[in-house]
Amino acid sequence: MLAPGQTIGILGGGQLGRMMALAAARLGLKCHIYCPDAASPAFEVAATHTIAAYDDEAALARFADSVDVVTYEFENVPGETAAFLEARRPVRPGPKALAVSQDRLVEKRFIADLGIAVAPFAEVTGEATLESALARFKGRGVLKTRRFGYDGKGQVMLRSANDVVGALARIANAPAILEGLVDFEREVSIIVARGLDGTVEAFDLAWNTHAHHILDRTRVPAGVSPETEAEARRIGETIAAALDYVGVLAVELFLVRDGAGEHLVVNEIAPRVHNSGHWTEDACLVSQFEQHVRAVAGWPLGEPTRLADVEMENLVGADADRWAEIAAEPGARLHLYGKAESRPGRKMGHVNRLKLG
Ligand code: AMP
Repeated sequence: MLAPGQTIGILGGGQLGRMMALAAARLGLKCHIYCPDAASPAFEVAATHTIAAYDDEAALARFADSVDVVTYEFENVPGETAAFLEARRPVRPGPKALAVSQDRLVEKRFIADLGIAVAPFAEVTGEATLESALARFKGRGVLKTRRFGYDGKGQVMLRSANDVVGALARIANAPAILEGLVDFEREVSIIVARGLDGTVEAFDLAWNTHAHHILDRTRVPAGVSPETEAEARRIGETIAAALDYVGVLAVELFLVRDGAGEHLVVNEIAPRVHNSGHWTEDACLVSQFEQHVRAVAGWPLGEPTRLADVEMENLVGADADRWAEIAAEPGARLHLYGKAESRPGRKMGHVNRLKLG
């Protein structure tokens, strides 16, 4: 167990690393952020930082020597980087979580093998496999690259077999999967944390809506039945246990409603703190960031009890220009990431609006 004064090494210096470092500081733990980008938002709130490439072994070795445990704020940490660090310090979550979540095909098979529903999927290696998968899914589906997709990037919606060549060109013929379309009522996510001792704690289920493929709002409670809420927890716990996971894990799900009631279908998992968990910073006894810090530091997990209904709004691009107005709003808790440059589509901050009383 890390004692106050010891250091967590974080790969990645974005807003997620920044909020982790802030949570760690509150518990008297130090953070050392490792990121190739000199303008990383996490640097200004952490004890130490390193600006170096993820394949710079000399820099990685110095980083490992200076920390007590390593974690990360993005799932595309190169496998070699994780293995290099793993030989020197514990890396939490471990290599299995990274390997599974970096490849959509591996991830889908892994989750389906646990007996958990996922969207129908097929491996795509070229025109022939895409055509036959499309035929299976009645001519409609989402083509997704196996690796490096996020916020709708690396995805093409297909509505007819005529689009096959164009769709493959749009993903540069990268290895991919085709998913059948899920006719969902809403998108929800569950954030769970698993401690070093295997204890699992889950936050309440959250309801997410998107704008331009980027998370726009998260509302909690999610407006689903208690059975669905319990089922989401069970799914999160099952996946975390199967990955021998330590830390916070996000599971994005589709809520499907049919004659038989509500069902959950897993869309994807993220082996890290997640944008759809930002509401926990102000609405719960412990935030997802503190929970992650506790887990990777080997501390007991906190109680994820929710104290109020809440709506999180992402401040993307020029949205953050409204900061002064939001700062004056009763019940609003403003979070800004300190990014020098605003660009369309760039996450600049978020606001949690608590429904008090
Ligand atoms: P993803 O990057 O996989 O989270 O996908 C981005 C968005 O595309 C999701 O949030 C959904 O709104 C939509 N989407 C992805 N996969 C499917 C699917 N199989 N069926 C219907 N909509 C999907």
